Amino acid sequence: MTLKKVLSLKNINLEKVSSEIKKGKIFVFPTSTVYGIGTNVFNKEAVEKIYNMKKRDYQKALIVLINGYEMLKDIVMPLNDIEKKLAETFWPGFLTLVLKKKDIIPDIVTASKDTVAVRYDANKLLNSIIDKAKVPIVAPSANISNEPCINDIKDLSKSIYDSVDYVIDLGKINSNKESTIVKVEDNNVYILREGKIKKEDILKCLSKYSVDITLK
Ligand code: AMP
Ligand code: MG
Repeated sequence: MTLKKVLSLKNINLEKVSSEIKKGKIFVFPTSTVYGIGTNVFNKEAVEKIYNMKKRDYQKALIVLINGYEMLKDIVMPLNDIEKKLAETFWPGFLTLVLKKKDIIPDIVTASKDTVAVRYDANKLLNSIIDKAKVPIVAPSANISNEPCINDIKDLSKSIYDSVDYVIDLGKINSNKESTIVKVEDNNVYILREGKIKKEDILKCLSKYSVDITLK
């Protein structure tokens, strides 16, 4: 019997975890929104495993986590002024931006779209793992599709627990709300999902720009 590798602040070895993720191992980890399930964005087989263990439709693209602007520019085209303002205001934090992707991002991650949903999260442990792994990670929520997100490992589904390589348990996350997903097209700002950040917050952030903001 293999012991499930449940890691906490007491026993986590960040170097080890990061190198395992880079190799395509799969882990449950805390973010500043909910617990996520992730791996190296460039490892197609590992990403496919995540779709399967979540019973997720392949047409539903994944969110990709980065830990700063260096990593961002490796995976997406340059941001326009509105996207830059949104990123400067809400990153690191609860904003996911849908951006024009570079070819380096595998199709399985984006359901073959030419855009990728990207977030720079505020969780320090997570950012330090991404920093050491030197790759962005895919990060859907750590639940079976259509079941509720989790903010406590005690609520992790047994089948997901059994399928992943590592579980990083940092206790209960204070939030239980997903990120807000925004897409900018010319002067139109679409809020594809209103999560932690509300439409009013986006309006305030972009008050100096002449934009139309639509809540989808
Ligand atoms: P989650 O299932 O909580 O990880 O949420 C991810 C959400 O982001 C899903 O609703 C996806 O449809 C959406 N999403 C991911 N990538 C894109 C994209 N490139 N364009 C539009 N929506 C996206
Ligand atoms: Mg989800």
